[in-house]
Amino acid sequence: MTDNPEPQQDPGLPVANPCVSFWQQTTRSFPYLNHNKNEPVPAKSKYVVIGSGISGALTTYELIQGGVPASDIIILEAREAASGASSRNAGHVRPDAFRGFQVYSQLHGKEQALKIIANEKLVFERVRDFTQRHNVPCDFNPTTTFDVCMTPEFAAFNARSLALYRQAGGDVSHIRFLEGEDAARATRVEGAVAAYEWPAGSSHPAKLAQWLLAQSVSKGVRLYTHCPATSVVKAAATTSTAEDGGVGWDVGTPRGTTRAKVVVHCTNAFAPHLLPQLSSFVTPNRAQAHAFVPPPSFSGDQMLPSTMSLRHSLKHFYSVAQRRPDGIIILGAPIANPKISAEAAAARLTTDDSVFNEEVRVDCVRNFETTFPECEEGSLRHGEGLLHTWTGIVGMTTDSVPFVGKIESLPGQWICAGFNGHGMARIFTCAPGVAKLILGGSWADTGLPECFEITQERIEKLQKGVAGSVF
Ligand SMILES: Cc1cc2nc3c(=O)[nH]c(=O)nc-3n(C[C@H](O)[C@H](O)[C@H](O)COP(=O)(O)OP(=O)(O)OC[C@H]3O[C@@H](n4cnc5c(N)ncnc54)[C@H](O)[C@@H]3O)c2cc1C
Repeated sequence: MTDNPEPQQDPGLPVANPCVSFWQQTTRSFPYLNHNKNEPVPAKSKYVVIGSGISGALTTYELIQGGVPASDIIILEAREAASGASSRNAGHVRPDAFRGFQVYSQLHGKEQALKIIANEKLVFERVRDFTQRHNVPCDFNPTTTFDVCMTPEFAAFNARSLALYRQAGGDVSHIRFLEGEDAARATRVEGAVAAYEWPAGSSHPAKLAQWLLAQSVSKGVRLYTHCPATSVVKAAATTSTAEDGGVGWDVGTPRGTTRAKVVVHCTNAFAPHLLPQLSSFVTPNRAQAHAFVPPPSFSGDQMLPSTMSLRHSLKHFYSVAQRRPDGIIILGAPIANPKISAEAAAARLTTDDSVFNEEVRVDCVRNFETTFPECEEGSLRHGEGLLHTWTGIVGMTTDSVPFVGKIESLPGQWICAGFNGHGMARIFTCAPGVAKLILGGSWADTGLPECFEITQERIEKLQKGVAGSVF
């Protein structure tokens, strides 16, 4: 049932020379991009958050909301601020409305599968409400999305998922179904067999992460960029006193060691580097995205009003989201793609986001052009067409859900990682959830599906080989 790749033993640290994504190209002026780049880390900090992507940035933000003094928190980031997947994705905040229900049910049972899907809807609403309430300048566009079924086989799969989800009591009130001509007209995709539409959005993900970081830094959080955590070891009992919280952790970096009471791993695909016990269950994968300048037929009042996923099968799909501020179309390439060579498929099993794969680029752009023939290279003017290609590293988990919560065997260490290339539809409940737990809340307080929790029981289940992939 799984096609997850063989786990890599230690993902190591993120590479030092990553490519610059479209989102990073357009945010070079972020004042904290290289914050404290040469500063030594403090000898002590009550809270150390490792990773400054949306998980780390939002966990920090929520800890402060929960009453933690900002000056008690430091964030360690291996590269420039938010330079991981959060600034490299395809911009979609796209909840799964029902599609994954079949696989989630097999992996986690029906009740959890219902909760997983309900959580995604909630995340979209949270991101929408949060960005609107705080006027976050991250180009958030609340709209709808289409799951466009490109083959009769996938249309049948989706129909079965929807039926099973509905039978189990899942909410389908927000889902619209279109078939044949109606689907083609609504999506502008000629070959569409069927389409499902539901609320979703898109954003400038780097701007969202950067806004969160800026809020925390302005309140007193110390962010250390280009400063990877290289080790987390138990503090020696002689120097860890009751006064500074008893048990502690020494977090090593190239710029000194910080003693912390609470360590939060927000390192997504790289979590196993500091937590080797996860190396069989969190696997780095390189994903790729593209920015495309549209021709007149997709510009001005002809822009695509909704985002979409062009689906040939469960895992062979291409995302399309047109940005409101500039009309640029962001194309996401499939993580699993039967149309590329074995060599190109193997090349994604890497943590190297300094380069992109040419075969993946050609396939992704060709798929877009075939779907929307007005965008074919031959009919474009100079300046239209492919603008940029970039990559980023996603953290795939063997049971398709993230690891959130207390690491039982390492008291004082917490995790919010393993987002399966789908973090924009999950982090806005997971990060607040882990912050609640750190502040003394119970799992029930987080409202998260129980299967997201990093329990010993889950690890043992995974060790027995329970695995399956929705992505
Ligand atoms: C090409 C691409 C397309 C995607 N498209 C979508 C999409 O459309 N919708 C969606 O929902 N999701 C998408 N994703 C996935 C999404 O971007 C991630 O799930 C999400 O950004 C994860 O956020 P994070 O904060 O957990 O991880 P990251 O943003 O990766 O942050 C982890 C951070 O930790 C840092 N780090 C790692 N190890 C260390 C260490 N030892 N010390 C210090 N720092 C460390 C990294 O440098 C990084 O900045 C996509 C991802 C990619 C790459």
